[in-house]
Amino acid sequence: MCYLYSTFRFQSLSVWGNKEVRSRLSWYHDVMRDLKPAKFLICKSIPCNKLEGASLADLWAEHGRLAELFKRKLEKVKAGAVDLAVEEHSFLDLKFELAKKMLDSCNYCEWNCRVNRNQGKVGVCRLDKVTRVASWFRHFGEEPPLVNTHGSGTIFFTGCMFRCVFCQNWSISQYPLAGEEVDENKLAEIMRALRRQGAHNINFVGGEPTPNIHTIIGGMLRLDVNIPMLWNSDMYGSVDAMNLLKEVIDIWLPDFKYGNDNCARRLSNVPNYFAVVARNHKIAGENGDMIIRHLVLPNHFECCTKPVLEWIAQNCPHALVNVMQQYYPDYKVIQHPEKYPDIARRLTSKEVEKAYEYAEKLGLVYEPVS
Ligand code: SF4
Repeated sequence: MCYLYSTFRFQSLSVWGNKEVRSRLSWYHDVMRDLKPAKFLICKSIPCNKLEGASLADLWAEHGRLAELFKRKLEKVKAGAVDLAVEEHSFLDLKFELAKKMLDSCNYCEWNCRVNRNQGKVGVCRLDKVTRVASWFRHFGEEPPLVNTHGSGTIFFTGCMFRCVFCQNWSISQYPLAGEEVDENKLAEIMRALRRQGAHNINFVGGEPTPNIHTIIGGMLRLDVNIPMLWNSDMYGSVDAMNLLKEVIDIWLPDFKYGNDNCARRLSNVPNYFAVVARNHKIAGENGDMIIRHLVLPNHFECCTKPVLEWIAQNCPHALVNVMQQYYPDYKVIQHPEKYPDIARRLTSKEVEKAYEYAEKLGLVYEPVS
């Protein structure tokens, strides 16, 4: 989810002068500076057995084998080895095959709709197999380590599997047809253009990128430039989706909204929120650099802010955390404020300070000062 007009607790734009930011985002930093290859390029260099006519189970078995090879190769790359000749049939091809096949019975996210999106059926996200992009540009409103000097190459996909009543991007998240159709070739062109313009990363967002994993991995397959891949998501993907992503995403920008399932159900109409999103944060944290976002909501300190921050402190202590204060009522909260009286106003300065103080007490809020 992209938050417009973001304000940050990251206080200095010269963040890379700060040793702590640099060490916590070291992989991302090295790829951004072209000192290391992005993970998707490493995937392209790992040969895959040809598995024509193979079942989904066989493809996943091969994926498991190659994931182990990837781990070893990543360590070598980190140590300085750079043998990255592109294989004719690679780990990334396998990921693309799997992603396309999964659309026959979609389980990209925990709604687990099992609809055949390849045959035009739609699930909760209301998307068939066609990916649509509402806009793409270099975004200067993201966290300073992502924006740096030339911006974050942000691609806004339409559609979402959440129904957040306060969504700031409702005109694209809730209207899946509100964009231009793109296939993997077009997406690769967009990514190449963003890199040419100087973007420091490719920022997949929406709406929500998860329903478009097939096009995103296909786009990487056709991309021949080195640039870090950033996953800017509500983190409601399935374990299978996380398995496809964890070897191609260089930096995660997850959104941890709610500290319990009741608030998630009432405000985003999504079940089993906490367990799923917590699990995916753990997977992401074990597989890459990460900046976790938590948007503070009015009147949700005890039920959401507090448990989310406590969970992060216990489970992802190495992640940078952005405690966001820019909430404003939007979308259904404006249309029906009587239904959502708890969040029908902006935050007070006391609420903002309370959230920051608690995060600081847990050792979380990160304020790089040059
Ligand atoms: S991406 Fe999620 S919401 Fe959309 S069809 Fe697949 S399982 Fe359902």
